[in-house]
Amino acid sequence: MRDDAPPLSYSDPVWKRPGRERVLSSDIEAGETVDVAVVGAGFQGLSTALHAARRGMSVRVLEALTVGEGASGLNGGQVIPGFKYDPEWLYSHFGEARGEALASFGASTADVVFDLIETHALDVEYRRAGWIQAAHTEAAMDSAAERNRQWQARGADVALLNAAEIALLTGAAGYLGGWLDRRAGVINPLAFAAELARLAVEAGARIAEEHRVTSLKRADDIWYVGTASGVVRARQVVIATNAYSHGLVTGLEQSLVALHSFQIATAPLSAAETAAILEHGQAVSDSRRILVYYRKTPDGRLILGGRGRMTVPDDPRDWKHLEYALKRIYPALSGIAIERRWFGRVAMTPDHLPHIHMPEKGLLIAAGCQGRGIGLMTALGQRFAEYLQSGDTAVLPFPVSPILPIPLHRFRRFGVAGLIAWYRMLDGMER
Ligand SMILES: Cc1cc2nc3c(=O)[nH]c(=O)nc-3n(C[C@H](O)[C@H](O)[C@H](O)COP(=O)(O)OP(=O)(O)OC[C@H]3O[C@@H](n4cnc5c(N)ncnc54)[C@H](O)[C@@H]3O)c2cc1C
Repeated sequence: MRDDAPPLSYSDPVWKRPGRERVLSSDIEAGETVDVAVVGAGFQGLSTALHAARRGMSVRVLEALTVGEGASGLNGGQVIPGFKYDPEWLYSHFGEARGEALASFGASTADVVFDLIETHALDVEYRRAGWIQAAHTEAAMDSAAERNRQWQARGADVALLNAAEIALLTGAAGYLGGWLDRRAGVINPLAFAAELARLAVEAGARIAEEHRVTSLKRADDIWYVGTASGVVRARQVVIATNAYSHGLVTGLEQSLVALHSFQIATAPLSAAETAAILEHGQAVSDSRRILVYYRKTPDGRLILGGRGRMTVPDDPRDWKHLEYALKRIYPALSGIAIERRWFGRVAMTPDHLPHIHMPEKGLLIAAGCQGRGIGLMTALGQRFAEYLQSGDTAVLPFPVSPILPIPLHRFRRFGVAGLIAWYRMLDGMER
C-alpha cells in the first residue's frame, strides 16, 4: 500500500485561510506510538480526532497538505442534513431498524455542526436560515412534495414552497416551487475546519500538516503509518482521504468516482441586489440533473457551484457554464464581475450512499459523501470515535461493506463527461 500522488493544484477559494493554522501543526517524534492515526485533516479526520481525543485516546492526524485543504476547505458551505434518499426509501432498503437509525442519523448531521459552532463559540461565520431545493419542473415539484410529506411525518422543521413563496425567498424567476429545510444553514467551511483542528489539538490530538502518508503496513497488530519524515505506530488507523484517496488502500480510489465541483464568487452585490436576492440567507440547490447550488456570503457575494470538467481546469473559461447559470437564475447580475473561481473533488459512489470499510483489523475507512459532507462527515467522526473506543460496529450508521472497485474505473472520465453532456442537454430542454 503506497501513495505517491503529487498534491493536486487548484485555484482560489473565496474563503480566507486563517493566519494561525500552522501553529497547530507538530512534527512526528521518533518512535511515536498512538492509539489512533488519522490520515487526512478534513472534517472527517478532524472530527474523528477531536472526539477520539475527548474519549481519552492518543491521536495523531497526518495531512498531506494543510488543514482543510481538501474538499473541506473548498466547498460551498451549505450544511444540509439527510442523504439523497428519503426516510421511507431507507426503511425499505435497509429494513425498519437500520433504516430508522440511518434516517435519524441523517436528520442529526446539521445539528452536530451547528452545536459544535454554538457550544464552543467557534470563530466560524454561520447562519442557520435553511436550505431550499428549488423545483423547475412538475416532476421535481412532486418529489419535493413527497420529501416534505416524509420529513414532516418525522416532525422535521420543513415546508413546501409554492411559486410565489420561492420567488420571494430567492429573488429568482422560473421556479415552480420547492422544498425548504429549516434544519440546514451555511458556514464558512475553511474556518470550521481550522476551528475543528484547534479543538482537536486542545483535546490532546496532534496534527502534522505537510506529512503525506506514503505507506501503510501492519505487523503484530500494530500499524506502521509511514511519511517522508517519520513513521507513526498506531493500534488503529482511520483513512479520511475521501475524494483525495490515492493508492494507500488497495481498490479504494477505484471504488469511488471523484467528480469535480466548480465554484465562482461574484464581486459584492449592490445594496439593491442584496435586498432582492436571497434576502433571508437561505442556501439553494436546484433540481436539474446537473444541479447548481448557490448562496450569499457574509461579505455580500453570491457564490454558485456545479459540476465541471473532469480534467484539471487551467483557464477561466472552464467556469463559463457557471456564469451562464448565474445569468439564467439572476439576469440582473449579468454584468457582475466574477472575482474568484475554484474547484475541488467530490466522491460519489454507485449507490449514492457513503461507504464504510474495514478491510483489515484496525483499519477504518469512510468515503463517498456525494457532495454533502459537512454535516455527514462531522457527524460520522463522532460515531467513528465511539467505534474506535468500543469496537462495537452497531454505533456506525452505515453497514460495513467490502471495497468494491467500479468496473472499467479507468474510463470513468470519459463516461462521466458524456453523461454530463447528455444531462445538460436534457436540462436545457426542460428550461
Ligand atoms: C467544490 C465543492 C463544493 C462542495 N460543496 C458542499 C456543500 O456546500 N455542502 C456539503 O455538505 N458538502 C459540500 N462538498 C463536499 C464536502 O466538501 C466533502 O464531502 C467533505 O469536505 C469531505 O470531507 P473529508 O474530511 O472526508 O475529506 P477532505 O476534506 O477532502 O479531506 C481529505 C484530506 O486527505 C488528505 N490526504 C489525501 N491523501 C493523503 C495522504 N496520503 N496522506 C495524508 N493526507 C492525505 C487531503 O489532502 C485532504 O486534506 C463540496 C465539495 C467540493 C469539492
